[in-house]
Amino acid sequence: MKGQQIIICPNCGENKVKNSGIGKMFLWFAVISAITIIGIPLAIVFFLAWIFVRYVQKDNLRMICMQCKHMFKVDESTYDRYKQALNNELARK
Ligand SMILES: [Zn+2]
Repeated sequence: MKGQQIIICPNCGENKVKNSGIGKMFLWFAVISAITIIGIPLAIVFFLAWIFVRYVQKDNLRMICMQCKHMFKVDESTYDRYKQALNNELARK
């Protein structure tokens, strides 16, 4: 099996996992809305939603399995090790 071995899908055992990315979506909406002057109040709402999801819901710890679409959460120390493993992999290429 190639790739990182830190976070494994609890459903199917695959290691092809990534962030669910809901928080990032809100941030994009905020940026896109902020382009127009009318959109700025909307941008503020999306930005607050992003902060909420990012820090209250800890969205960056929510992973999705690319194989079976199973969503699961990991704890912060596991996620840090996962990110390090990904960086090491990029450095090797
Ligand atoms: Zn899976």
